[in-house]
Order: sequence, then C-alpha cells, then structure tokens
Amino acid sequence: MDLELSPEQEEFRKIVRAFAEEVVAPRAEAMDRAERLDPAVLDQMAGMGLFGLPFPEEVGGMGADYTTLCLAIEELGRVDSSVAITLEAAVGLGAMPIWRYGTPEQHQRWLRPLAAGEQLASFGLTEPGGGSDAGALRTRAVLDGDEWVIDGTKAFITNAGLDRSGMVVLAAVTGQRPDGRNEITNIVVPAGTPGYQVGRAYAKVGWHASDTRELVFEGARVPVANTLGERGSGLGNFLRTLEEGRIAVAALATGLCQGCVDECARYARERQAFGRPIAGFQAVAFKIADMEVRAHTARLAWQRAAARLDAGQPYGREAAIAKLYASEAAVTSARDAVQVHGGYGYMEEFPVARFYRDAKVLEIGEGTSEVMRVLISRSLGL
Ligand SMILES: Cc1cc2nc3c(=O)[nH]c(=O)nc-3n(C[C@H](O)[C@H](O)[C@H](O)COP(=O)(O)OP(=O)(O)OC[C@H]3O[C@@H](n4cnc5c(N)ncnc54)[C@H](O)[C@@H]3O)c2cc1C
Repeated sequence: MDLELSPEQEEFRKIVRAFAEEVVAPRAEAMDRAERLDPAVLDQMAGMGLFGLPFPEEVGGMGADYTTLCLAIEELGRVDSSVAITLEAAVGLGAMPIWRYGTPEQHQRWLRPLAAGEQLASFGLTEPGGGSDAGALRTRAVLDGDEWVIDGTKAFITNAGLDRSGMVVLAAVTGQRPDGRNEITNIVVPAGTPGYQVGRAYAKVGWHASDTRELVFEGARVPVANTLGERGSGLGNFLRTLEEGRIAVAALATGLCQGCVDECARYARERQAFGRPIAGFQAVAFKIADMEVRAHTARLAWQRAAARLDAGQPYGREAAIAKLYASEAAVTSARDAVQVHGGYGYMEEFPVARFYRDAKVLEIGEGTSEVMRVLISRSLGL
C-alpha cells in the first residue's frame, strides 16, 4: 500500500501548518488559561473548510478523503491539542454519523451548517456509569405519538457547550431485544430543545480550551424524524464511528509527538550548560532521537489505517494499533520533552508543559489503551 502523500495532500499540509504556526500557536497559551477557544480561530478554520473536509460538495463539504482530515488534525495537534480535538470531535464524531447514517433530507438540514463550521455537533455516548461498556446505557427514549421523550445523563461530552454547538447525536435505549439486550438507537437532539440541559464545563487536567460537559435530559422531546439510521442500529453505528475516529485521535497524538521533537530540538540547541548547548550531551540528543522515532512510527501507523479506510478495506485492527501506539508515544514524548527543558519545562509559558497535561487523555478518550489491547488481542484470535 502506497503511503506517500499526493502533491495536493502535501500542499494542504503546508497550508494547515502555516495556519497552526501563525494563528493558533501564538494564542494557544492564552486559550488554555482562559479555558476557551478564541471564536476567531474557529471562524478561520471554518473559512478554510476544515469542518467539511471529508463530506461531499453536494452537502457543502470539501470532498477530501479521511487521510486529509487526519493531516489537518495532526498539524493542529502539533501546536494545540484543544484546537485539534475540537475539529476531531466535531467532524469525526459529531458530524460523521449524520453523514454515514442520515437521510438526504437530514444531510441538507444538519450536515450543511456543520460542514460550513457554522454549527458543531457533539457525540453523546458516554454516561456517568461507564464509557468502555458502551452497551450498558441508561439514557432512555420512549415514543409518545410521533415524538421521542428522552431521559438520562451523558458524561464528558466534547463541543456541546459552545455558542455554535448545534446538536448532540445521542445513543439511547429505545427498547429490549428478544435476547434481552438493549435496543439502542441514535437520535439527534438540537441545542435549545426544552428538557436538554448542558451542564458546567468540567475542570480538566488538560485540553483546557476544549469544551467538555455533562448533558442532562429530562423529558426532552424531539420528533421521531430525528432518528438517525435504523431504529436499533445505534450501538453498531456509534462503535463504527469510534473505530474510524481512532485514526484521527492517532493523528492528533502524532502531532503532539512531533511538537515535542520540534520544541526540544530548538531548545536543546539554544540552552547552554557546562559551556555548550545541551544538544551536545548525548543523554539529551538521544531523548530527542527517540521522540523522532515515535513521531515517525505513529505517523506511519495512522496513515496506514487511514489509507485502508480510504481504499474501502477493513481498518479496525490498524486503527486500534495506531491509536494505542500513538497515544502512548505522546505520553512518553511529552514527559521526556519536559525533562529536556528542565525547570522551564514545568512552566506554562513553554508549550511542552501544556503538551504534558494534554497527552494523558489520549490514552483514555475514544477507547482506552486497555480496550485497544482487547481489540488487538481479539484480532489475533485470543
Ligand atoms: C476530555 C474527554 C472528552 C471526552 N469526549 C467524549 C465525547 O465527546 N463523547 C463521548 O461519548 N465520550 C467522550 N469521552 C468519554 C471517553 O470516551 C471515556 O472516558 C472512555 O471511553 C472511558 O470510559 P470511562 O471514563 O467510563 O472509563 P471506564 O470504562 O469506567 O474504565 C475505567 C478503567 O477500566 C478499564 N476497563 C474497562 N473495561 C475494561 C475491559 N473490558 N478490559 C480491560 N480494562 C477495562 C479502562 O481501560 C479504564 O482503565 C471523553 C472523555 C474525556 C476525558
């Protein structure tokens, strides 16, 4: 399989890198402190078409492939994980199930404003009682005439509390299967629906500028026409969405790994100790060399998974391998990047301090490292 990027993809990567360096990086520390993204950054991302990348032009998208979306996420992740996850969660998790499982009418109604970045969608699967055991949902939707009435709570939901949050795509229990398992259905709940309350933002270890909320549904009513996909197909459709999203999280983690290499290489050339740049100490240079190996390997892993997805080949195993490797690589590289910076690495004005806080969640969101190992060992027949 050819993993070389096309000239168009290389060009696009350069454009996003320039935007990341010139627009996002100078604002990253302030947005992290304010725990809020600058809306002007989101507006510029929307203007570049980033929120519509993988969707066809008929619904207002850019008609690019999944690899191109991941390139954008990697380049943003190189300077600011909060910005990168906002794009990943909006496109890969929020809008993607509407594209994959929605009707042409639903595409026109919901996907168009999402592809334009005028609205962002969020993905409502996890609940306070559990995320890994996705089938054990408690949120219920009951039909009353031609309306769903929804009750329940969702935990840790990204992008639901922004001014431009347009809707949450939920997984809710809508009945019982003959074998006793839950029947789970996806339902779109627009922002502002009475009975749908968006809670306060969580105080998080990292990803400070990314919006994460608890969502509470108390008798929230939406038309049955807001059902996404077949009734009862909701768990399978959401698990497929997560499988694909893992490739994008691996790309984000690769960006963070690359950010560690670049920040450390610059710092190690400048910082003097014992009369010479610290890059001259092999203990420092080898740490940076190992970071480079991790960034390179993580990139190969996500690009291979994305190439398989784009070619219509099975990619679940490759996505799990990429997500597991890249997220653990990001945690290791961020820890070492702080070490290379010494005391300054522990100071917030140096990006590596933020990278250190931002890396850990990559081993948790969109399937924990343990869940990735379960999937990979199953793929080996274990
Ligand atoms: C910042 C942030 C943003 C998020 N955004 C979203 C979002 O937009 N939408 C959404 O739906 N969710 C979101 N999540 C939720 C995230 O996907 C879950 O936190 C994750 O899936 C883990 O679920 P949990 O937190 O309930 O942990 P649990 O499932 O309770 O896991 C706890 C521990 O047990 C381990 N464990 C569980 N089951 C097994 C098993 N079978 N084998 C081995 N080990 C196991 C886990 O690996 C973990 O170490 C977000 C989370 C965070 C932190």
